[in-house]
Amino acid sequence: MDLHLMAGRPRRIVGLAAGIFLFEASTQLFLRSNHAAAEHLLAYIFLINVAALMAIEIWRARRSDHLKAHWFLLSAVSGLYIVYVLWDLWAGAIFPRVPVAYLISCQFVIAVSSAIPSVLLISLPAGRRYFRHLIWIDLALVAMAAYLFYVVVLHQLPFTSAPVAPIDEMAFMHLLFLESLCVTAAYLLHYFAAVGRDEKWFFGAVSLNAVISLPIRLVFNRLVALHPQESLYNVAGLLVSLLAPTIYLLLPAEDSEAAPFRVGVLADLINIASPAMPSAALLTLGIVVESRFHRIGIAAMTTAFLLFAVRATFFQRSFERAQLFLEQAQMRLREMSYVDALTGIANRRAFNEALDSEWEHSMRSGSPLSLILIDIDLFKQLNDTLGHQEGDGCLVSVAQALRAVLLRKTDILGRYGGDEFAAVLPSTNLKDAEVVAQRLWEAVHILGIEIPGPTVRKISVSVGVGSCTEFHHQTVKDLISAADKALYSAKSAGRDCWRTSDPYL
Ligand code: GH3
Ligand code: MG
Repeated sequence: MDLHLMAGRPRRIVGLAAGIFLFEASTQLFLRSNHAAAEHLLAYIFLINVAALMAIEIWRARRSDHLKAHWFLLSAVSGLYIVYVLWDLWAGAIFPRVPVAYLISCQFVIAVSSAIPSVLLISLPAGRRYFRHLIWIDLALVAMAAYLFYVVVLHQLPFTSAPVAPIDEMAFMHLLFLESLCVTAAYLLHYFAAVGRDEKWFFGAVSLNAVISLPIRLVFNRLVALHPQESLYNVAGLLVSLLAPTIYLLLPAEDSEAAPFRVGVLADLINIASPAMPSAALLTLGIVVESRFHRIGIAAMTTAFLLFAVRATFFQRSFERAQLFLEQAQMRLREMSYVDALTGIANRRAFNEALDSEWEHSMRSGSPLSLILIDIDLFKQLNDTLGHQEGDGCLVSVAQALRAVLLRKTDILGRYGGDEFAAVLPSTNLKDAEVVAQRLWEAVHILGIEIPGPTVRKISVSVGVGSCTEFHHQTVKDLISAADKALYSAKSAGRDCWRTSDPYL
């Protein structure tokens, strides 16, 4: 199954969801007269729907490039919900000897824990950055906050067989509703603060699901409270349970190539503030329970502070590491864009920049500047007889030979074009440049690369020398054209020699 295909068939997905909904709703309407049976069946239908949702979330997580954690966290919410319902249905039968109060306590723990992945999801910083090592700190914070939430709501510690303080079921429902409301608001904020297209789509889908299902759930809770025996209202619950799988299937495939967004100050504020949420929640809960469970309260407050400090340190370090990595990558890129990939010497762009800067320098200091152009003779013939690869190898050898005879550190050798090289010789007048031209010309001869053909000959170069001592009425272009003309006259003179430019320059 391919996400593109799925996204390309929205009608089929919506049709399938509508069909499933009609089927499930009709079972509830059919069992209207037998409320107990309707409720029982509803629990299993919910289980199937949530299991399907979880499968879709895991499927998306596995295919996701950089929202893996997001999808797995969503699937964890579904998974915990399944455990909650199964516990409700089967715990009594599986553990007959365990006191009921203990089983109920465990069930509340599961209910409260199902908020952990949602809060973790909210605390993820935007973008693909810095996730891995921070999740464990956040998990510790959120799990502890969930523990304290349990204590605050039920006025006792979890996993004890003491009966849970009677709490109004409706009040508990409303409390969970309030929690969903906060989580939804946070999802929406993440939607507006997203730094990439995929992240925006993800939080858009999650928010859309939450925004539609929240009012339905509110009405559902209200109606169930007013008419506990009416199965008709279960239909609303079914609608909600099918909404998320439909939306997540309709979500288009991720595009990891998409460029990140530039976000505003508000988005930055949200992104920076949201990772602090688990600590803030734990701190608040610690303050609330402190009066009754002194030690737990103090421990929570201390942990909130310490883990926040550790988290901030990790965050900063990974940010700096990312920054450093980026700078190194930029440097490598810069180097790459100045180096000729084949010969390893300066490329045309680097050479031009060097020539410009040397021209400026000579103009200020008044020292002479020379330019030598070197072109391999009848290189096309070498390519044709020996092949392109041999030709490449020859270019590398020539470049190395030329570089080896440029003795001054300030001399710059570059690849000017296909088989043409150029050397800038700062503080060098025409006479000295001629000596260098002779050395360059000889260096290629010494290489002795043979070109087979009707008459075997050795590879050679033609060299043109240009030099400048008077900068105020000249430009760098004049220097280049002087060297070029000299090269042309070397070629015209039968190649395999060096020539100088007109001395007037
Ligand atoms: P001339 O003596 O007049 O310079 O004759 P030539 O055959 O050398 O003529 P020209 O300089 O115009 O030809 C350059 C040739 O260099 C043409 C092209 O096929 C070859 N060439 C350019 N870049 C590369 C390269 O990166 N590798 C190889 N193998 N050949 C290249
Ligand atoms: Mg040539």
